[in-house]
Amino acid sequence: MAILHRLVVAAIPLVPRAVVARVARRYIAGETLEEAVAAARALREEKCDTTVDVLGEFITTMDQAGATAEDYLRTVRALRDGGVTVNVSVKLTAFGLLLDAEACARLVERVVREAAAAGGFVRVDMEDAPCTDRTLAIHDGLRAKGLPVGVVLQARLHRTPRDAARLAAEGASVRLCKGIYLEPPSIAHTGREEIRAAFLENLAILLDGKGRVAIATHDDVLVEAAERMLREKRIPRERYEFQMLLGVLPGLRRSLVAKGHPLRVYVPYGTSWYAYSTRRLRENPEVAGNIVRALFRRGS
Ligand SMILES: Cc1cc2nc3c(=O)[nH]c(=O)nc-3n(C[C@H](O)[C@H](O)[C@H](O)COP(=O)(O)OP(=O)(O)OC[C@H]3O[C@@H](n4cnc5c(N)ncnc54)[C@H](O)[C@@H]3O)c2cc1C
Repeated sequence: MAILHRLVVAAIPLVPRAVVARVARRYIAGETLEEAVAAARALREEKCDTTVDVLGEFITTMDQAGATAEDYLRTVRALRDGGVTVNVSVKLTAFGLLLDAEACARLVERVVREAAAAGGFVRVDMEDAPCTDRTLAIHDGLRAKGLPVGVVLQARLHRTPRDAARLAAEGASVRLCKGIYLEPPSIAHTGREEIRAAFLENLAILLDGKGRVAIATHDDVLVEAAERMLREKRIPRERYEFQMLLGVLPGLRRSLVAKGHPLRVYVPYGTSWYAYSTRRLRENPEVAGNIVRALFRRGS
């Protein structure tokens, strides 16, 4: 399958936009803010919370970073006015992390303060390894000001147990995921089972700490192991939630909700869906399997 994945990734520029759109439609709420609010409302009906992500292109100027902040400010206000929980996920590179980290921190702080005023929360997504320290530093700075923020840790990175232990002791809110970026073996686990083991090791560290833990995975092996761990450690509902991406394994999502687990769905929206989808496919060939499946599944 790995060879097939690589072939698909190499062929991505040749894949018709309509085919990418067909795959993307499942994973993206739509192009407009109204569609994002509607998706969040519909999920509320299914007893799911949401976190909304504004899809953005890679940026090259701080003017573009400012535009990202404006998009998020509009999103926060629309969620508030639409009666939906204000919870957004941000990628710091879209706020200029790699151009001017201080200006990036100021822009994100504006969004966090707007969300805070609406009783909301901002999750700082984690990007590839060159961003890890800078992302944690900005998250820590916002948290030190008492603002409602949380961050993401990637189980595949060797450094994560140390970061998890620190953030757990400080009571920070952490989303744990496997990590979508393929990092080199010098800094990351690369095998499926190693990454699973690292996920569970980090989950135990976080659950033994003081903060809220978001368990972000669709891997049924990890979901079952996490449920066992939650039971054994007698973790109350207020301390954790499962998180899943919009459109991915809705059956698993519904079964977790039916069992009474808190669950949040990550809802991306925006006009940059094409760049987002093809970037995700290039970053992780595993995801490319979905293009293959979509191509061969009738009526999908
Ligand atoms: C809420 C949420 C937030 C995330 N935030 C970040 C982040 O900030 N930084 C980061 O690096 N990564 C993030 N990720 C991605 C994460 O790191 C993994 O790459 C991704 O979740 C796939 O890993 P998995 O644990 O679901 O296991 P996998 O073994 O990859 O997936 C298990 C099964 O889920 C299905 N599946 C998984 N992903 C997809 C998909 N995209 N499309 C269709 N089916 C799929 C497949 O059936 C697969 O067999 C996030 C994931 C979630 C759920």
